[in-house]
Amino acid sequence: MDIVVATQNEGKLQEVKDLLREIGANIISLKDIPQLPVICESGLTFHENALIKAESIASFTKMITIADDSGLEVDSLDGKPGVYSARFAAENASDEENNKKLLRELDGVPISKRGATFRCVIAIVNPNGKKGTVEGECRGIIQFRAKGEFGFGYDPLFLIPEYGKTLAELPIEIKNKISHRADAIKKLKAVFEKYI
Ligand code: IMP
Repeated sequence: MDIVVATQNEGKLQEVKDLLREIGANIISLKDIPQLPVICESGLTFHENALIKAESIASFTKMITIADDSGLEVDSLDGKPGVYSARFAAENASDEENNKKLLRELDGVPISKRGATFRCVIAIVNPNGKKGTVEGECRGIIQFRAKGEFGFGYDPLFLIPEYGKTLAELPIEIKNKISHRADAIKKLKAVFEKYI
């Protein structure tokens, strides 16, 4: 079975591939699809954005498509940056710029109030009309400075209390077990049959 995984991000594609391997699906990435339509992530929630992406790619490719939308919600910033995680500092901001902006916004906030959630919504859309979403999360604490070299995005600032390490210090095999994306994919696997 061919499944399109609608992400341009190599890191995320790898995580999804690793996690979907058990299903035995043939994963097709957006790089394999020429002349893709431009998709505008105009939704105000992770659910809306994940569905917008999966629906447009499924209708273009006529293949089952999964798409995710994810981001960071910081408790003391009322859930910011949320759907704006990728463009927190500016449109097309680098990970480093976004991390710096997050540290600036949390300046003076004590460790006890730096709780945060990585959230991931995965949408699955079958061109036959069946569709749904699942949601995963991962709790952590935003550190005062970046640590670690692995992962991407806000990983160097996001401490997992159970490990005493940031996601960027943990090997990908561990991140793949505990991440918001892993949690969402676990939930997707449980309901997958309904959509194929
Ligand atoms: P998306 O590509 O629209 O889902 O945007 C997700 C943004 O949220 C990324 O650009 C990162 O800034 C952040 N993000 C999502 N998942 C992760 C993760 O696993 N680690 C670090 N940052 C993440």
